[in-house]
Amino acid sequence: MKIAFKTRLLANNKQASHMLKACGVARFAWNWGLAAWNEQYKAFKEDSIQTKPSGMALKKQLNAIKKEQFPWMYEVSKYASQQPFIFLNQAWSDYFKKKKQNGKPVGRPRFKKKGKSIDSFYVGGDQVVVSGRLVKVPNLGWLKMAEPIKYGGHINSMTITRTADKWYVSFSMDVEVSMLPSKSQARCGVDLGINKLATLSNGDIRYWDTPRPLKSSLRKLARYQRRLVKKVKSSKGYQVLKMKIAQLHKRIADIRRNTLHQLTRYLTEHFCDVTIEDLNVKGMMANRTLARHIADVGLYEFRRQMVYKSDWYQTTLTIADRWFASSKLCSDCGVRNGELKLSDRVFRCECGNGKCRDYNASLNLEMYTAR
Ligand SMILES: [Zn+2]
Repeated sequence: MKIAFKTRLLANNKQASHMLKACGVARFAWNWGLAAWNEQYKAFKEDSIQTKPSGMALKKQLNAIKKEQFPWMYEVSKYASQQPFIFLNQAWSDYFKKKKQNGKPVGRPRFKKKGKSIDSFYVGGDQVVVSGRLVKVPNLGWLKMAEPIKYGGHINSMTITRTADKWYVSFSMDVEVSMLPSKSQARCGVDLGINKLATLSNGDIRYWDTPRPLKSSLRKLARYQRRLVKKVKSSKGYQVLKMKIAQLHKRIADIRRNTLHQLTRYLTEHFCDVTIEDLNVKGMMANRTLARHIADVGLYEFRRQMVYKSDWYQTTLTIADRWFASSKLCSDCGVRNGELKLSDRVFRCECGNGKCRDYNASLNLEMYTAR
């Protein structure tokens, strides 16, 4: 089974500029190849003695003049200047065969514009070396990855891409199906919390509570802030306390991010289908106390992580319609309880249902895709 494993690349300025150069070479080779292709194809149409252009032939033509005209191409992996021709061949073939992408026929290959097209370059499997959290980029050296490759298997290639100022590496691999983490359950509904982080419909209680270090940090923060008010501004004590508060803010943000990463990873690794709410965030922000909590829990961040991790772990992510009343429906009998107030922590129904409100909502979300 073919899979892609993608993770962040941690690059310093020097490494980043080398990779930018490799992306530039790849873009140049593509554009050079496309221009030559267009020209040669025109000549072929007008005069049948001419040969039809091909990626292989164009690659040879570039190689013949590379040393003379584009010596800077040698500063980066050979793949940066070679692979674009294979991609170009593929792109033309897809175009002529009227292949479809996202339901639409693919267009003619287009020139890549600096800053507009995605910056990337490909490295073939023979030049890919990985050791733990390190990956060797040809002509550059070892770079750290955010996490080691989690699967055993043959690496066919890697593609390095840039999004804003962040770098990513994606490995294309052949993996035995048995090596993939087994998804233990089919579906999970997630109710995102105001007092709790998240309630999962499988009953996993690990994510129901705000992590303890976060709680204590938040208490500490409140204490510091009360103390700060009493201090004279510009005094030494004021400055020291200000610094402490800034450090605490960072710590709180780090804990939150970590917890969210654990949660989103758990969800995408363990379930085939995950349904989350489309919280009407705007509507809730109007409520000031709620707004604070929402910002705390990092709903946007949760959703962002869920979207890209679902892609990595091949999880189907469903975002329930924003008008889907997950907290107002009885998960046992389906009857709607319109009188439920935000302060009611237990969902009560005439059928006898007396589940915790958030758990009831998570069950409704789990069943959302089955409706
Ligand atoms: Zn009921």
